[in-house]
Amino acid sequence: MSFSILASAADGAGTPAWAMLAYLIAGVFFILALRGLSSPASSRAGNRYGMLGMLIAVVTTLATHEIANIAEIGIAMSLGGVIGVTVARKIAMTAMPELVAGFHSLVGLAAVVVGLAAWLDPASFGITDAAGQILMVSRVELGLGIAIGAITFSGSVIAFLKLSGRMSGNPILLPMRHVINLGTLVAILGMIAAYAMSGAGGGGEGQMIIYITIAAFLIGFLLIIPIGGADMPVVVSMLNSYSGWAAAAMGFTLGNTAMIITGALVGSSGAILSYIMCRAMNRSFISVIAGGFGADDSSGGGEAREARPYKQGSAEDAAFMLEQAEKVIIIPGYGMAVAQAQHALREMCDMLEEKGVEVKFAIHPVAGRMPGHMNVLLAEASVDYDKVFELEDINSEFAQADVAFIIGANDVVNPAAKTDKSSPIYGMPVFDVDKAKQVFFIKRSMGGVGYAGVDNDVFYMNQTVMLLSDAKKMVEEIVKALD
Ligand code: NDP
Repeated sequence: MSFSILASAADGAGTPAWAMLAYLIAGVFFILALRGLSSPASSRAGNRYGMLGMLIAVVTTLATHEIANIAEIGIAMSLGGVIGVTVARKIAMTAMPELVAGFHSLVGLAAVVVGLAAWLDPASFGITDAAGQILMVSRVELGLGIAIGAITFSGSVIAFLKLSGRMSGNPILLPMRHVINLGTLVAILGMIAAYAMSGAGGGGEGQMIIYITIAAFLIGFLLIIPIGGADMPVVVSMLNSYSGWAAAAMGFTLGNTAMIITGALVGSSGAILSYIMCRAMNRSFISVIAGGFGADDSSGGGEAREARPYKQGSAEDAAFMLEQAEKVIIIPGYGMAVAQAQHALREMCDMLEEKGVEVKFAIHPVAGRMPGHMNVLLAEASVDYDKVFELEDINSEFAQADVAFIIGANDVVNPAAKTDKSSPIYGMPVFDVDKAKQVFFIKRSMGGVGYAGVDNDVFYMNQTVMLLSDAKKMVEEIVKALD
């Protein structure tokens, strides 16, 4: 297939003014998309802005470039569209992080393939000088774009395998891994510099680009295998950021403004999200990417926990106390997502409100396994947005709550985060459920632990009643009892 579709975009100066304006408008839509996605109420509009921006960018590129074969492009787009729609319809919410990891691997691979294509046929990309050599600035862009793309690809493949359970989520710790990783990264940068200064042309000249590609694929694997499965969502967000930077680098090679804008937006928003997630988990970004979290049992693991007395209740006990309450705060967590209990929970909430009980939902920034996990599930069950509150907005209300109803959450209500300096979650802001008059805690067994693998004093508090069952089953039984 000819590269003319890409090549004709290479010269920014040759792009008509209206196309530059269209790319700018597409960029504005992408920014509006990010803004819209920052709140559940505006997220649908955000998605539409993003789709519109992408439509404008794609149509502009197709309209301003000589297309090799419109039928080929049509077939490729239809195939991609069918696969996208099928996957989006089938995927379970809990499998979303692995799907995102899978998609990022494709973005990385696309950057590598475009980079290698430009290296093989630089003239058709318009990145050669009068002597037919690849411009130095283009060599830097090519080297960086291919390296970041290859790291994104292999890193995302490992993240996908770990998240989907096809590979153990345990950190794989090679001896001297920090030295090996740092050494390889320095070597890649050195090779990019050597390639940039080599004055090599395209068409297979400058073998260095092959070595850069191989080393970057390798470092992608090495960087991600030591990271434990539970840190993977941060890694996915980080790889998202890398894929953006790879796309931006390729945007420079192709002279495509829309790609530069989108790449930079994805790159920076992914980096900000990774930072926010680390902060909400009280983990440093460096400690996440250095890996090894959860490799030993110092963070708990559950098996050495001493048996302590706790109270166990039934759905009928919970229903009785809930309908007596004036104010109930529900704290959903990862277990609600696993059990898919959100619809039953909405029904329970409706019934309580009919009985005059005030019900609110408290969402921790890292509840579940991906940012916004709980918000999405509650929105799917049509829970009103104005009943859903962020940690800092609702934490002071637990003192006035009659019932704190914890469903599949664990770490986000663990008081050890406030009191136990040796705890892996020390410093993470948590809900003050201990201040509520009564606590109901749904989980399947006393042995199960949360992501951090630590015991939770809330299980053993005087006012806590454990409801040991699958979350959906328990809530359905409570609904029956309320009826
Ligand atoms: P946790 O992982 O701490 O706890 C989950 C709880 O759900 C466990 O107590 C488990 O106990 C219970 N559970 C699992 N399956 C079911 C089921 N079918 N029915 C009922 N209960 C069930 O969840 P949280 O949401 O409180 O905390 C999230 C954790 O994930 C935090 O530590 C956070 O740092 C981490 N994290 C979050 C990210 C994010 O972006 N949101 C990213 C990376 C990490 P049992 O097995 O006994 O049922």
